[in-house]
Amino acid sequence: MKKLVILGATGSIGEQALEVVSRSDELAVVGLAAERNWERALAQARDHGAPAVALADPTAAAAASAAWNGRVLSGEVGIRELIAGSGADLVLNGIVGSAGLGPTIVALTEGIELALANKESLVVGGELVMALAEATDTRIIPVDSEHSALFQLIGAEPPGRVERLVLTASGGPLRGRADLSGVTPEEALAHPTWEMGGRITIDSASLLNKGFELIEAHHLFGLAYRRIDVLVHPQSIVHALVNLNDGATLAHLGYPDMRVPISYALHYPDRADVELPTLDLAAVGELSFEEPDLATFPCLRLAREAGEAGGTAPCVLNAADEVAVAAFLDGRISFTAIVEVVERTLDALPASRPGHFEDLFAADVEARERAGELVGRVGAAR
Ligand code: NDP
Repeated sequence: MKKLVILGATGSIGEQALEVVSRSDELAVVGLAAERNWERALAQARDHGAPAVALADPTAAAAASAAWNGRVLSGEVGIRELIAGSGADLVLNGIVGSAGLGPTIVALTEGIELALANKESLVVGGELVMALAEATDTRIIPVDSEHSALFQLIGAEPPGRVERLVLTASGGPLRGRADLSGVTPEEALAHPTWEMGGRITIDSASLLNKGFELIEAHHLFGLAYRRIDVLVHPQSIVHALVNLNDGATLAHLGYPDMRVPISYALHYPDRADVELPTLDLAAVGELSFEEPDLATFPCLRLAREAGEAGGTAPCVLNAADEVAVAAFLDGRISFTAIVEVVERTLDALPASRPGHFEDLFAADVEARERAGELVGRVGAAR
C-alpha cells in the first residue's frame, strides 16, 4: 500500500486525484490539505479515511477542528507539519500558485517522493528545487500532462540523445482572435479541451501557462530553452514530442483527461486502469499544428525571456501574474492589462541570483506589491 498526502485536495487536480485513489487498492490517503474549503476537505477525509487535514487559512482550520474528531492542522506551518509527520511514500502537490513552493521544499527535504502538479514550484524555484531533489535523492514525477508525456517518452534515454522537446498547446479559448481587448472572464474561462481551476485556465487563454510549462520543462529535463519549442495543437491529443539524435521523433498521445497523468504519477513505476475509451484517431479525424501567435499572445515570449534571464525573473513573472489574474477575474482590470502588469513588474524588478529559498520568498512579496500598485493604476485608468 502506498501512503499518500494530497495537497490542494479540494481543487481540480485534488478532486481528480481522489477519484483515481477511489479506484485503486494500492493507494491510502494519510493526509489532505487545502486553503479554506474545510467542509469539502472534511468530507473527503471521511470518504477516504484520512486521519489528518491541514488548512492554510486559520479560521477555516478552527471551523474544521470544531466539526471533526480527526487531526486538524492550521496555517502554512500546519501544512508543513502534515507533510513532515505523515510517514507518506508520496506527496501530490496540487496547490495553485507560489504557495505550493514551501510544501514542495518540505516533501523533498524529508525525502518523500513528489508528484508535482504545482508547476509554480519549478517556475519560482527551479534551480534550487532541482538541487534539493538531487541532494536528498528524491524523485519528482511530473503531473502536468505535457511533462508527464515527456517523462514517459524520455524514459532512460542517455544524455545526448534528446535533441529537442516540443510542448503542445491547445491555444486556449482565444486562439485565432487578433484583438483581445474586451475579452471577458467568462470567455477566457471557456477552455475548449481541458477543465481546470480558474488561474491556470486564464493563463491558458493568455498562453502564459505554456510559458510556465517551458520553464518547468527546462528544469525537469535539463535542456536549454533554445531546445524546447511550443506548438499549437487545438485537438490536445498529442501532448508532447521528443526529437532524438537519429532523426526519430517520439510522440505521446491520448484524450485530454488529467486522470491519466495523475494516475501515472500516483502509481509510478506501475500503471493502473483508468476508465477511458481507447484513443480512436479515425474518430478524431484531424491532428493539426501551427506556430503560436506571439504578437497577439506576448506572454509566451515574456516567459521565455524570464526563463532565459533566470534568477528571480521567473519568480517575479509568476507573482505578477497571480496578482493580475486575480484582478482580471474580479473585474478590476482588462484581459490585455494582465500582460501589461506582468511586463511592467518584470521591467521594474531586474533579476538577481537567489542564494537561498528565502531570497525567492522575498522576491515573491516584492513582485506582488509592485504588481498590486500597477493593478491599482491600470484599473483606475479604465
Ligand atoms: P484549483 O484552483 O482548482 O485548486 C487549487 C487548490 O489549491 C485548492 O484545493 C485550494 O484550496 C488549494 N490552495 C490554494 N491556495 C492554497 C494555499 N495557500 N495553501 C494550501 N492550499 C491552497 O487549481 P488546479 O487544481 O487547477 O491547479 C492546481 C495546480 O496544478 C496548479 O499549479 C496548476 O497549474 C497545476 N495544473 C493543473 C491542471 C488542471 O487540470 N487543473 C493541469 C496541469 C497542472 P481551497 O479549495 O480551499 O481554496
